Amino acid sequence: MESSIQPLQKMRRYFESGATQPYAFRKQMLEALRNAITQYEDELMQALYADLKKNKEESWVTEIGFVQAEIRHALKHVHRWMKPQKVATNLLNFPGKSFVYKEPLGVVLIIGPWNYPLQLLFAPLVGAIAAGNCVVLKPSEFATATAAVMKRLIKQIFAPEYILCVEGEGAQVVPDLMNNFRFDHVFYTGSTAVGKAVYEMAAKQLVPVTLELGGKSPCVVESDADLKVAARRIALTKFSNAGQMCVAPDYVLVHRSAKDVFVRELISAIKRFFSEEPSSNYNYGKIINERAFNRLIKYMEQGRVIYGGKTDMSLHYIEPTLLDDVPLDATVMGEEIFGPVLTVLSFENFDEAKSIINRNSNPLAFYVFTSNKEKEERWLREVPFGGGCVNNASWHLTNFNLPFGGRGASGIGAYHGEYSFAVFSHQKAVMKTPTWFDPAVKYPPFEGKLKLFKKIIR
Ligand code: NAD
Repeated sequence: MESSIQPLQKMRRYFESGATQPYAFRKQMLEALRNAITQYEDELMQALYADLKKNKEESWVTEIGFVQAEIRHALKHVHRWMKPQKVATNLLNFPGKSFVYKEPLGVVLIIGPWNYPLQLLFAPLVGAIAAGNCVVLKPSEFATATAAVMKRLIKQIFAPEYILCVEGEGAQVVPDLMNNFRFDHVFYTGSTAVGKAVYEMAAKQLVPVTLELGGKSPCVVESDADLKVAARRIALTKFSNAGQMCVAPDYVLVHRSAKDVFVRELISAIKRFFSEEPSSNYNYGKIINERAFNRLIKYMEQGRVIYGGKTDMSLHYIEPTLLDDVPLDATVMGEEIFGPVLTVLSFENFDEAKSIINRNSNPLAFYVFTSNKEKEERWLREVPFGGGCVNNASWHLTNFNLPFGGRGASGIGAYHGEYSFAVFSHQKAVMKTPTWFDPAVKYPPFEGKLKLFKKIIR
């Protein structure tokens, strides 16, 4: 174990030297990352195509451009984020002044999944650099082409004692790292099952964690929704990246009276976006590997296929597929689908729909399509969820002013923009008290001062 720990000890020493803390350093490193991503853009696009058949436009919007926008946002604001923030001081501490200092955490570990292999590793990295940390990056072993390019990119621009990319099988590499070194924070994106294992390892050394997990994200379509727009927006994000998106609509609950029209619109949107033959369509992706493919095939057997259903293992291809007549106790209604299979259920009233959603509580995302403000508010208030949209799906994650994360089984903590900076910073409370005012009343003997204390401290 000695060999894999030595580089981490070097990182610890590098962090303790203070080298990562000055604003000029953070800015320079963010700029280096931005320039390297530009330099590697073609290679990254080729790798994303090899791993997931992502086209260039999708790769830009959801991966490369997404990270570049995070960097741009951080470069614009990091100087302000770093400044100690002055807060009010209470009467008891008059004439003191109070501040929140933003202190880097130290050496942090970022573990990424394979579905957005660049975005989900590098977006948290931007926050960690902006906050002044040293970082170990662990990309997923399943998006191998993208992981290889990212590793080269990181090695080219960053010293290994500052940012280190470690490849390998997660079940082996991550415990080796976490059980033999105390990280100051672990930022994990991936499945809930592995998230629990990471949390357990972190708990042994009281390491704080951010867990960006999965879950079943429902989509409610009310009878008063603009059904054409709802269908287009749901089809776009459900079948983008062949449904392998953590915030993709997992299933649709459509009002019974609108179901037929909605399904017709959904099918027409799918055909327009991906053609009648998505297997060879530029806009349509592929399933990451055989294991995921076989899991999805099983789900397709649990209901009546009303659209799609074609598959080809040699291409890792599953057609955009709509399922009807799915029993609520089927596994496809209990597990996250994470693929291009969409279950369409109908409901009669609010309570019926809510009880279906409650079977898998605290989804990562929730979407409601309606033109009625009261229904909109009721849904937003009564369903606990990580983040979501009204009359849209998944796009909330592209606004850096919103925190992105889950709750309950879908995650712990949130990031993006300033929230990422906060994840990788300690908020250090500091009170500065001048010496010119030092009344005797604060000191013993206390006898007889209770009335005064009651006045000051309430
Ligand atoms: P995964 O849990 O299999 O792997 C994620 C990472 O964990 C990989 O880097 C892997 O190497 C590592 N890992 C695997 N086994 C490990 C172990 N035993 N101990 C420690 N680390 C281990 O997840 P995945 O299949 O790559 O991603 C799919 C899941 O991720 C879905 O559930 C999806 O919803 C979720 N996800 C969530 C978000 C989000 O932002 N909330 C984003 C993308 C994906």
